Amino acid sequence: MSLNLQSDVSLKAFNSFGVDVRARLFAEAHDDEDAREALSLAAQRNVPLLVIGGGSNLLLTRDVEALVLRMASRGIRILSEDGEQVLVEAEAGEPWHPFVQWSLAQGLNGLENLSLIPGTVGAAPMQNIGAYGVEIKDLFAGLTALDRQTGELRDFTTEECAFAYRDSLFKREVGRWLILRVRFRLSRLASLRLDYGPVRQRLVEMGIEVPTATDVSQAICAIRSEKLPNPVELGNAGSFFKNPVVPFGLAERIRAEHADLVSYPAGDGLSKLAAGWLIERAGWKGFREGDAGVHRLQALVLVNYGQATGTQLLQLAQRIQADIRARFGVELEIEPNVL
Ligand SMILES: Cc1cc2nc3c(=O)[nH]c(=O)nc-3n(C[C@H](O)[C@H](O)[C@H](O)COP(=O)(O)OP(=O)(O)OC[C@H]3O[C@@H](n4cnc5c(N)ncnc54)[C@H](O)[C@@H]3O)c2cc1C
Repeated sequence: MSLNLQSDVSLKAFNSFGVDVRARLFAEAHDDEDAREALSLAAQRNVPLLVIGGGSNLLLTRDVEALVLRMASRGIRILSEDGEQVLVEAEAGEPWHPFVQWSLAQGLNGLENLSLIPGTVGAAPMQNIGAYGVEIKDLFAGLTALDRQTGELRDFTTEECAFAYRDSLFKREVGRWLILRVRFRLSRLASLRLDYGPVRQRLVEMGIEVPTATDVSQAICAIRSEKLPNPVELGNAGSFFKNPVVPFGLAERIRAEHADLVSYPAGDGLSKLAAGWLIERAGWKGFREGDAGVHRLQALVLVNYGQATGTQLLQLAQRIQADIRARFGVELEIEPNVL
């Protein structure tokens, strides 16, 4: 299929903040050939190539002087079955949540805790998406990426991806790798993770005593729908800040003044603090200036009430960062990719 290259395209529908900036050039890749063609077109026209999936982890602060390539490749296949273990591969443009639902419908367990995360399969390894005690690195079995520098395909193992908390090699080597397809090792046997957040409690409320992976997925969808704004109704990119990891001593100094601090042990004398708790305690929850705001129920989520620009959202984020630094001595790191 040949690439349909368009000029001066609004990206409003292609980012979950609903920020209205324009792309100099725009195209959709339906297969590997399209991706290669986009790469050479960008080189010919001397513009950078920006690869996107669902745009649910992006903050666009200005018009994009690049060829924006939206991954739209589709296809899910079972590569091999070895008794209980099943190796599954999905193309980068597959929407994430329908892929999770497909796996559950096949009787494959593992991805249920990652239900209802927006975006695509191809972007999932970028920040090692995670929720409710599971990260994709736990199910990951490899990926194939196009090396944008050499034009060659390369397969990556889990170790080579260097996954960390909301991080990976691909996020660090910005613009080098175009992820084409991702493989997951799923299981015919359920090994459910119910101990994180209110999952177990929600299952009890649903009257389920012996849950299946599908039950867990439904419980998590219900919890997430109550907790997080739907980007279709209210622009947002999910959690805007990472949970900061700080020395244990700093966490204890904060706790001495705030007994209800939410924190978790993070190994090696470190503590992970709940960024949402810090922001809420600093009084930002529900804050709104123009159309940029902090969600009224979830302090970790910045929202666009309609016409906010990416710059206004970024300035709000920077004000929050400065305030948290001044009050608690803690650096908040922005999670979405800011452009
Ligand atoms: C309401 C809401 C809830 C969310 N909840 C969670 C959550 O629980 N856990 C979590 O981890 N995240 C969460 N997110 C963030 C987001 O859903 C994930 O980061 C998701 O993986 C982004 O996918 P995407 O296709 O939209 O990526 P995009 O936003 O399009 O892109 C993200 C980054 O990946 C790059 N990229 C995209 N596709 C490719 C590719 N094929 N090859 C190379 N680079 C690529 C882009 O250039 C960009 O740098 C949430 C977001 C929202 C809006």
